Amino acid sequence: ILNNIQELPGDALFAIKQRLAEDPRSAKVDLGIGAYRDEDGKPWVLPAVRKAETLIHSDASFNHEYLGIAGLPALTSGAAKVILGDDSSALAEKRVVSAQSLSGTGALHIAAKFIQKFLPGKLLYVSDPTWANHVSIFESQGVKTATYPYWDAATKSLDLEGFIKAIESSPRGSVFLLHACAHNPTGLDPTEAQWEKILSACVKNDIIPLFDSAYQGFASGSLTNDAFAVRLGVKKFAESAPIFICQSFAKNVGMYGERCGCIHLIVPRQESNVNVSTITKAVASQISKITRSEVSNPPAYGAKIVAKILNNAELTEQWHKDMVTMSQRITKMRHSLRDKLLELQTPGNWDHIVNQCGMFSYTGLTKPMVERLEKEHGVYMVASGRASIAGLNEKNVEHVAKAINEVVRH
Ligand code: PMP
Repeated sequence: ILNNIQELPGDALFAIKQRLAEDPRSAKVDLGIGAYRDEDGKPWVLPAVRKAETLIHSDASFNHEYLGIAGLPALTSGAAKVILGDDSSALAEKRVVSAQSLSGTGALHIAAKFIQKFLPGKLLYVSDPTWANHVSIFESQGVKTATYPYWDAATKSLDLEGFIKAIESSPRGSVFLLHACAHNPTGLDPTEAQWEKILSACVKNDIIPLFDSAYQGFASGSLTNDAFAVRLGVKKFAESAPIFICQSFAKNVGMYGERCGCIHLIVPRQESNVNVSTITKAVASQISKITRSEVSNPPAYGAKIVAKILNNAELTEQWHKDMVTMSQRITKMRHSLRDKLLELQTPGNWDHIVNQCGMFSYTGLTKPMVERLEKEHGVYMVASGRASIAGLNEKNVEHVAKAINEVVRH
């Protein structure tokens, strides 16, 4: 019965992790996986998380009961404020449906199921390039995908013209997946003026935006700055189309394995003549149905930690500091790598490393160069040349710069 099942190649990113674990060289460097590392190259439990855990465990009423199907209300309401802002008119007007999900991936999965069921036949556009999992998540639910130009390899900058043209020439009512900030894999975000143009073109062409917000606070250290595009989109689309927001707390709370995230669907003010509250109730019930049939109810532990951080002023303040710590260390390492490449007079221009933001740099290194970096120097990154800058520290940056210098020259 099972004879015809074909073995698939392993996931490229997790294969890197495996090769790295088996590499006996002491000078190996992990620039593969998108997870924050401290100055010693170690995973970092945020001080805000440690404090939240202490509080949770000292609470006599703590238990491991199931959450409700839509998740922990203290998490979903706090999370909506984090992404939309305390003063959001969408929240004040009760146009937001929020539900807990299995981190950002789970939120994208719910969005995919929802689109397949209620917006059938719509094309979903992703940036070229995009996070490796986006296409699989949507196609696995039967949502057809297409790409829009994003990265201009020649100039290592945004192909704004191509992006806008794709919006204008897409079938009306298509869904565009937009990276809210810290674009993965390029680390290149539109400027505020460019977002204005992109979102205006979306409104004009009846696009439905789907914001993937996996790095809020990572790009600039500020939740507000990193929510610029989402909040502008929510304003611009208030009268016209729904907006999906898929939110992850994996990176900005450092809770990768706890799978804590949310999906928010913003209902526009005038969806025909049906009352907004009738629509939000219907949408919430349908999202609950998806969750119930797949995971029954979302995981509680990470949700309790994040909810504690979002609803306790002292912990919120600590969390904001923690995000600044992470984003500043990454920025410092970007400068350190660029400066060392300049010192070595490595051929090429390396300014993009400091101009990009978030966890990643799209270095421009070719696939053969990446292969040699791994084989000859023990420096691991994704074949596309994407390097996770969080893997750099004072102790390994020189080794990495020398290795890049060597593969670029020879
Ligand atoms: N979107 C983007 C752009 C990502 O880079 C990631 C993680 N690499 C995710 C979503 C999902 O992350 P998670 O499921 O761990 O929250």
